[in-house]
Amino acid sequence: QPFQWHRSISSTTSTTSTTTSEPVIFSGIQPTGVPHLGNYLGALHQWVKLQNNAKPGAKLLFSIVDLHALTVPQDAAQLRKWRREAFATLLAVGLDPKRSTIFYQSAVPAHAELMWILSTVASMGYLSRMTQWKSKLQLPEDITLEHSEARAQLRLGLFSYPVLQAADILVHKATHVPVGEDQRQHLEFSRYTANSFNHLYGPIFPIPEALISPAKRVMSLKEPTAKMSKSHADERSRILLTDSPSEIHKKVKVALTDSEPTVSYDPARRPGVSNLIEILSHFEEVPCAALAAEYQSASLRTLKEHVASRIAHHLQEVRERYIEIMEDQSGYLDTVAQEGAEVAQANASQTMRQVRDVMGL
Ligand code: ATP
Repeated sequence: QPFQWHRSISSTTSTTSTTTSEPVIFSGIQPTGVPHLGNYLGALHQWVKLQNNAKPGAKLLFSIVDLHALTVPQDAAQLRKWRREAFATLLAVGLDPKRSTIFYQSAVPAHAELMWILSTVASMGYLSRMTQWKSKLQLPEDITLEHSEARAQLRLGLFSYPVLQAADILVHKATHVPVGEDQRQHLEFSRYTANSFNHLYGPIFPIPEALISPAKRVMSLKEPTAKMSKSHADERSRILLTDSPSEIHKKVKVALTDSEPTVSYDPARRPGVSNLIEILSHFEEVPCAALAAEYQSASLRTLKEHVASRIAHHLQEVRERYIEIMEDQSGYLDTVAQEGAEVAQANASQTMRQVRDVMGL
C-alpha cells in the first residue's frame, strides 16, 4: 500500500489548541540488540521516509531509549555496546543528523524529570491493564496486580514504562509518533496522560497521533504467530540489519512454514508463508494477494530464495554504511550524539519551563 504519512501529517488539525503550526515527529528504539527487519519495516524505514519528505520547519527527533532498556536486567558492558550499535544503525539506515536530531535518551535528563511529573497524574488502573509488563514477564494477559506471581516479579520501572514513553513524546511536544502496531496501546496511554495533565494544569501538551507503519507487525521467522523481536531467545527468528547476504539466506531458508508444498496467502491458516509474502510485499510495494497469485505455481523454496535475495539486496547498503560507521576512528558517532543531545535538551527545556511554571515549581 502506498506511503501516505506525509499527506496525513500535513493535513492534520486534530490536536488541541496547543498544536504548533509545524509537525514535531518523535520516535525511539531500545538498545536491546542490533535492530532487526521488524524494527526496520515497522519503524526505521518510515522514519527515514518522513525525514526525506519533511517540509522545512518540521522537527524530527529520534532517540535511542536506553532508560527503557533498563526495565529488564542488563549487563553494563553489553548495554554500552548495544547503545552504540543502535546509534550506528540509525545513521546507517539513512537518518541524517543535519535534518533529524538523534540522541541517547539518558543524555537528556528532562525525559526522566517529566516522567516523575506525569506519574503524579498517570492512572494505576490503566497501567495495570497494559500488556507489555505481562508479556515481558511471560505472564498471562489476564493476570492482575492482585496475583502473587505478578507482585513477586514486577518492578516499578517495567510497570511504569508507558509513563516514561509518554514523557519521551510529550517533553518534545511531539504531534506525530511513527511506530509499529505493537506500540498503539502505549500511544493511547500517552494521549490519555497528556489530556489528563492538560485538564488539570492547562493546555501544555499537543495530543500526539500515532503513525502506524504499513508494516504493522513483521512476524518471527521461527514462531510466526509472535512478532519478530530483539529479545527472542532464538537468533534465527530475526534478520538483523547487519546480517550478511549468506546469513539472510540461511535464516530465510529455515524459516518455519508448513507442510503444504505451494504458496498461498492466508495469515490465519498459514502464518509462516504469509509472513514471507508480507515481507516481500513491503519491499516490492505489491499487495500480498497479487504476490500470492504470482507465486501460486512456485515452490516454497523458490519463494524463500526470492524473499532472501530481496532483503539482502535492500540491506546491503545499510550494512556497508553500518560497518563504515562502526570502524570510524574520528569520533563521528560521539560528535553526532553530543550535538543531538544538546538540541534535544534545549527543546525539552522549553517544555519543562512551562510545565514547572503551571505546576507552581
Ligand atoms: P524488544 O524485543 O527489546 O522489546 P523490539 O524488537 O520489540 O524490542 P523496540 O525497540 O521496542 O523493539 O521497538 C522499536 C520500534 O520497532 C517500535 O516502533 C516498534 O513498534 C517497532 N517494532 C518492533 N518490532 C516490530 C515488528 N516485529 N514489526 C513491526 N514493527 C516492530
